[in-house]
Amino acid sequence: MSRQEQSFRGSVERMFTHAASLMDLPPGLEEKIRVCNSTYTVRFGVRLRGQIHTFTGYRSVHSEHMEPVKGGIRYSLDVNQDEVEALAALMTYKCALVEVPFGGSKGGLRIDPRAWNEDELERVTRRFTYELSRRNLISPSQNVPAPDMGTGEREMAWMADAYKRLHPDDINAKACVTGKPRTAGGIDGRVEATGRGVQYALREVFRHPDVLKRAGLEGTLAGKRVIVQGLGNVGYHAAHFLSSEDQALISCVIERDGAITNPQGINVDALRGHIISTGGVRGFSGGDYHEEGMAKLEEPCDILIPAAVESVIHAGNADRIACKLIVEAANGPVTADADEILRNRGVVIVPDMYANAGGVTVSYFEWVKNLSQISLGRMERRHEEARARMLIEELERISADTGTNFELAKGFKEAFLHGADELDLVRSGLDDTMREAFGKMREVWMANSRVEDLRTAAYVVAIRRVSNVYGSLGL
Ligand code: GLU
Repeated sequence: MSRQEQSFRGSVERMFTHAASLMDLPPGLEEKIRVCNSTYTVRFGVRLRGQIHTFTGYRSVHSEHMEPVKGGIRYSLDVNQDEVEALAALMTYKCALVEVPFGGSKGGLRIDPRAWNEDELERVTRRFTYELSRRNLISPSQNVPAPDMGTGEREMAWMADAYKRLHPDDINAKACVTGKPRTAGGIDGRVEATGRGVQYALREVFRHPDVLKRAGLEGTLAGKRVIVQGLGNVGYHAAHFLSSEDQALISCVIERDGAITNPQGINVDALRGHIISTGGVRGFSGGDYHEEGMAKLEEPCDILIPAAVESVIHAGNADRIACKLIVEAANGPVTADADEILRNRGVVIVPDMYANAGGVTVSYFEWVKNLSQISLGRMERRHEEARARMLIEELERISADTGTNFELAKGFKEAFLHGADELDLVRSGLDDTMREAFGKMREVWMANSRVEDLRTAAYVVAIRRVSNVYGSLGL
């Protein structure tokens, strides 16, 4: 980010204000929606390695127009109040855009997760959960955290367990946090969900020639050159699914310690394995290594997927970005200044609040599963099975009566009786959600010449929905 550029939070507010200026909101409501309701800062000490270490944590609640409020908890040394508040605001708009019934929240702990071992991280996480719980900032009905950068299933399991110990009578305790391991009440498909959502978002773009044309693209995803910045959970799953299922070509992966390029396409799973075993991309044999990783954001390609931190595309490099389409798998990877530069250059941006909404969408499925205390699809499956049995009996009778081949009925029986499993249900629910939201965004973009891009359209849809809720609350 260049010196004089706005902060991440300033960028989010500028984008919001621009979209709101195109709408006819009741006086004062714009301000009410924009501002962050509250941010709790906590400093707590944990005795580790023979001395007390003090950690600073935040949980910000942006909007409680719907409850619980929802959003991840980030572990990073860069965490600060402004960042957490901007991320919480994005959660409000994201949830509204994909119609999951939550308000927006976000949390962070200023810690380098790589600097501590598993036992130490567990103690810190449990203590942080205790601090959040004392203020109802973790609660199935009020505030439901989830994984974000630097956290995953493991941390969510510790949080859920710590919460349960503090609230032994809460029958809904499992729903206090999402992104848990399957064995602790998690749902199939949550780990892959954000990356899967990025894939579904791109598929939607490629189903709409009018949108593709604006980016100067055509055809299918097969063979399209894709650069992925950040091969963490989100970037990896997006790259993995896009290359293995849509035959997109991952021409470059940018990581902390440099970039790997391969015009023939990078084997994403092999690279991920290399990163896990060596800690970086250097030394990977399946492509060329470049020490100046971030410079590779400017490499020519069809699709650029920033999947790590905010503000990596800024006024200082936006002129040189050489892709046609940017899919914001990370939150806030493009600053407001860069957004404008790229728009003027004809680059189409699929905005974060849509592109990375897969995570919170599947979190919603997990939360519902936890509250209903029944595994997802179980009731539907029973119902389907009963119907299938009737149909099978009918087919068997017809087969017997007419002496026709019984194979058809057998195949039918197999397909129906095994039914859809949880992963199928999650994926189809996510696909549906991504299609719906894209349709709304596209409609607003195409119908209104003052709405210049998909981001503004996404904000307009989200703000309208939030304002409707405030309206019905009598505010
Ligand atoms: N941290 C993710 C996000 O930024 C997921 C949030 C959630 O599942 O609540 O969207």
